[in-house]
Amino acid sequence: MKDKWTRDINYLRISITDRCNLRCFYCMPEEGIQKLNHDDILTFEQLYPIVEVAVELGISKIRITGGEPLVRKGIVNFIEKISKLSGLKDIAMTTNGILLERYAQELKEAGLHRLNISLDTLKEDRYKMITRWGELNQVLRGIEATEKAGLSPIKINVVAMRGINDDEIEDFARLTKEKPYHVRFIELMPMGEAEEIEGERFITNEEILNRLPDLIPLINEDGSGPAKYYKLPNSKGSIGFISPMSNHFCKSCNRIRLTADGKIKPCLHSNFEIDLKLAKTKEEIRNILQKGILLKPERHYLKEGSESSIRGMNQIGG
Ligand code: SAM
Ligand code: SF4
Repeated sequence: MKDKWTRDINYLRISITDRCNLRCFYCMPEEGIQKLNHDDILTFEQLYPIVEVAVELGISKIRITGGEPLVRKGIVNFIEKISKLSGLKDIAMTTNGILLERYAQELKEAGLHRLNISLDTLKEDRYKMITRWGELNQVLRGIEATEKAGLSPIKINVVAMRGINDDEIEDFARLTKEKPYHVRFIELMPMGEAEEIEGERFITNEEILNRLPDLIPLINEDGSGPAKYYKLPNSKGSIGFISPMSNHFCKSCNRIRLTADGKIKPCLHSNFEIDLKLAKTKEEIRNILQKGILLKPERHYLKEGSESSIRGMNQIGG
């Protein structure tokens, strides 16, 4: 379905939980967040008709995210169920990878197509510092299991931060020489926990690009996706740049979001939400989804200093 600005909205991102097994310092406070009540979270029984109607309205791609989606029980069965919807061409997930060693094969068999794995450092101590207690080896084993399960391409999302991991930009780039991974640098956004540190830690993707002078530009592999892709000579993988801050991609934005507590968010950077939780019938779900699509703003106004999101990333899912 088209929005008011004639963009074709075909991508729905669903956050299935606000909980997480890590506490990345720029995303969640150490003590965790005030968790949503169990009753406030959409059940998989409530989510299924929402996905069904979304597909009828032209959504062909779904990404499952969180919090950490793999901490939610029943996720594999849910993926198996939605994978049978004929209009759905692409089912992807964004995960921190901690539980992938256990789930990669099951996810593949359930019908998941692709995984984005978030990994901000290749150093063990630093991983523990950034995530507050995560074990890097668990993620590396998870990536191996993902490769073995044939879930490809594997995209590795890196939020580059000055003084935290910017000395590893070349290491991440080198990884694509040996492995067929798409490493994507994502600019830090001033949301939730990151609001206070963004000024000090923010690096533009342009700066990263300048530090990798051998990169060769590629035609955008994602079609309408926000990443701009490059590759090192003779490498197996590629390097992408997602620049929501320095070069917003609102013009080609094709997505809407659904939070774990059932709110449709037409734009990541706006606090405007529509409650879908009370919709009882498919007709009511359709009306609300259509309204969400039609009320998508033309663009976000972060750089102009618009009010930042009251929800942190762990509640929206990125
Ligand atoms: N827990 C999963 C994970 O980490 O992949 C899924 C949810 S997490 C919120 C999704 C993505 O958002 C991660 O890649 C994370 O690094 C990114 N993220 C979180 N806060 C961010 C911020 N302030 N700016 C940019 N990216 C952020
Ligand atoms: Fe959890 Fe992902 Fe946020 Fe890290 S970025 S705290 S893994 S939700």
